[in-house]
Formats: sequence, structure tokens, C-alpha cells
Amino acid sequence: MPAITNHLPTSELQALDAAHHMHPFTAGGELAAKGARIITRAKGVYLHDSEGHEILDAMAGLWCVNIGYGRSELADVAARQMKELPYYNTFFQTTHVPAIALAQKISELAPGDLNHVFFAGSGSEANDTNIRMVRTYWAIKGKPAKTIIISRKNAYHGSSVGSGSLGGMTPMHEQGGLPIPDIHHINQPNWWSEGGDMSPEAFGLARARELEDTILAHGEDRIAAFIAEPIQGAGGVIIPPSTYWPEIQRICDKYEILLIADEVICGFGRTGNWFGSETLGITPHIMTIAKGLSSGYQPIGGSIVCDEVAQVIGSGEFNHGYTYSGHPVASAVALENIRILEEENVLDHVRKVAMPALHEMWHGLADHPLVGETTITGMMGSLALTPHKDSRARFAMDAGTAGFMCRERCFANNLVMRHVYDRMVISPPLVISTDEIALLGQRARTALDECYAQLKDGDMLKPAAQ
Ligand SMILES: *Cc1c(COP(=O)(O)O)cnc(C)c1O
Repeated sequence: MPAITNHLPTSELQALDAAHHMHPFTAGGELAAKGARIITRAKGVYLHDSEGHEILDAMAGLWCVNIGYGRSELADVAARQMKELPYYNTFFQTTHVPAIALAQKISELAPGDLNHVFFAGSGSEANDTNIRMVRTYWAIKGKPAKTIIISRKNAYHGSSVGSGSLGGMTPMHEQGGLPIPDIHHINQPNWWSEGGDMSPEAFGLARARELEDTILAHGEDRIAAFIAEPIQGAGGVIIPPSTYWPEIQRICDKYEILLIADEVICGFGRTGNWFGSETLGITPHIMTIAKGLSSGYQPIGGSIVCDEVAQVIGSGEFNHGYTYSGHPVASAVALENIRILEEENVLDHVRKVAMPALHEMWHGLADHPLVGETTITGMMGSLALTPHKDSRARFAMDAGTAGFMCRERCFANNLVMRHVYDRMVISPPLVISTDEIALLGQRARTALDECYAQLKDGDMLKPAAQ
């Protein structure tokens, strides 16, 4: 079968895109003036665009293509499933083999008594499920006042009204009337930016204790749950100090509240274990999954639920669900993705080969004059750009200006790194080889050099007043 090739010149495709396609998280007018980059195909860790560039994708798409691009096994499974049963719902006392098999497999992989899966089409939908599930759980248990969900500033939990409310992104809350009622946000454990003179350990404890303060301020009888990413992803790969999660766990155990780990990025191998909760030592009641669950080959997400919560929710009718909950094609593709992760020992490759090489390369960038800290856990890392390393200073200019410039220099050097304000972020496919990691490092350093030169020429290396 011929590849689906680019049949129009790039400029015409860009004009059509600008005329008809509204992009997520994008200033449409600005992009229309510039023209979007057109990605035509991908293989392994490389993207190809309509201009013939081969680009190393150090973001695995949007943190999701864990097994890399171009695995035809997933395409074959999807085609077979579409021919056999392209769709059926699971609402009205029916089920099907792909949903059964995937739920069983996820339960086997998930730690402890996380043995039940409620499927969704995405991470956002799964977190919407979680909001309704934890509040319904407490209502059934005779505690309907337990409705408050505590989350964190600069968290990302999705973009629907519910999940966007759980998230702590100010620019999102400014649009469309978010957050919904009874969501509270505590500060994030971002030591580099917010730790001041405290040691990381003391800072981690202090930030965790904000959870306890918030529970006590509202009363335990009002709090339903705490939700957090084991490691914040979209917030800039913020790896919490070692003291943070043990203290959060202690607080969740002490008070009667549910703990939701949003594993949408951390799950399925990203941190070197199947789930970030294992790496960070967290015992949640519910896990949110999506992204790496199917390596992005099909849109699918879900909530993995512990025995007790599933049993309570199952005692009545849970008035909730999505047309595509447990979609057979998406489920079959996710199962095939997990089969590849298991049979090709991808987690072994991560732990023994990719992680050591990636960590060494990443920390090697710390000597660059523009780089403040380099931080990495498993296969997700970030570095802070700074005009002054010793004081951990921010730039005097608008946050994100330097980060955006660096990202543009990455693109110019055929590398995809994302910027979150002035942090540069990587989350490459888990199957990346040591040669590809070395190339990633070379291109990142070149991009940093070019960005540094630009900032210097433009007299933009001034630190903000502290
Ligand atoms: C991406 C993401 C989501 C949202 O998933 P979508 O599939 O985009 O709806 C939720 N939580 C985390 C931690 C994410 O990174």
C-alpha cells in the first residue's frame, strides 16, 4: 500500500490549515501568519515533515509514544478488530473481549488492590470520572458533605471543565469559568523556583504540610480526595524533593480522604516502573491513565480503582459513562502496546540502558552557562534556563521568552524539546537507543549555544529583581 504522501505544497497545506483548523493551546492568528509545521510520517524516534526534515522527537509526541512510532503490529490489530467488532457499548449489560482483556491486564500490572478499570477516551475524561466517582463514593457512604478535592497549583489534569478545574494552570482558569466549585489548590513542590533559602528537604515537607493545613481548615468531613501527578509533567517536569511524597502519604493515611495519582504521563514505564506511584512510593486509591496506555496509537484513558471504592460505587447505579468507554479498537491496540512493552522487555531497556545514558547526557548539560538545574527521573527530565545560575534567578523579561527562543533553536536543529515557561522538557520514546540519546544531547547543546548567543546579542540575559 502506498504511503499517504503530501499531495500539496507545504504553503498550500498551511493556508488550508490556517483557514479551517483550530489548534489546541495556540494563538490561532499568530500561527496562521507563520504557518504550522506539517508532520507527514514517523518511525522509531524520528518525525518527518513536509519539507524533508528528519526530526528527533524527544517528547514522544505529547509524552505518549512510549514504544516509538511505526509499529505495524498495532495497525494490524486495529484492522483485525475493526473487521470483527468495530464498536459496541458497555452500558446496557453487555461487554466485549477487548475491554475484558484490557481491564484484566491493567489490573494485573497495577500495584496492590487496584483491580478495577473504568474506561474513558482520554485523560481529561478519566479525571472527570474521578471527580464524580470520589464524590459519589462519599455520598453512598453517608458523607455527602465530603465534596472538596484538593489539587495543586501548576498541576495538569486535562482540559475539560472538570479536569481543567482540577489542574492548577492560571491561564486555563482565566477562560471559561473555571474552576468548578469545591476544588482547592495548594502550592507545588517546585524547589528550584519557589524554594528560596530552604533546603529541598525542608521545602518538600513544608509544601506537603499545606495539604494537612487545608484539610484542617475545611474540616476532614468536607474533603473527598487529594489528586496529584507523581511527577508534574506539563507543569515542567517538577520532580518533588524526596521528603514530599512520604509526608503526603502520611497525611492521606491519617485523615479519611482518597488519594488519586494522575499517572497519565508517569504510567506505562515513563519513570522506570509500570507506574510512577511505584517509583515515588505512593499508595493511591485511584490512578488516572491515558497517553502511554496505547502509546498514543489510539485515544484511550481510564481510572484504575481499588477494591473498596469499586465495591461501594458498584452498590448502586453510577450515572456516568462515555460512548467510547472501553472502545474495542482502542482497547485492542492498548493491549498490543502492553504486549510489546512486556515481551520486548522495554522496562529492562529503560532501567539498564536508556536511563543511565539519558541521565548522564542530561546532567552533562548542567555546565552550560544558560542552564540552572538539570533534573530527571526515569525517562522524563527538565532543565531550568536562567540568566544567573548561583542565585537561581528568573529572567527580567516575560517568563517563557527564553524558553520559546530555545525551543525554536531546537526545531532549527531537528530536535523537538518542549518549553514550559523557561524550563526545557524531554520525555523521549522509551525505546530510544544510546546513539539516539547521544544525538539528542548534541542537538540540545547546539540549540542551547545558539539560544545563549541570541540572548547575549539581544542584551536579554538580565536577571529579574529578587
Ligand atoms: C495529558 C494529561 C492529562 C489529560 O489527558 P488528555 O488525554 O489530553 O485528556 C491528564 N493528566 C495528565 C497528568 C496529563 O499529562
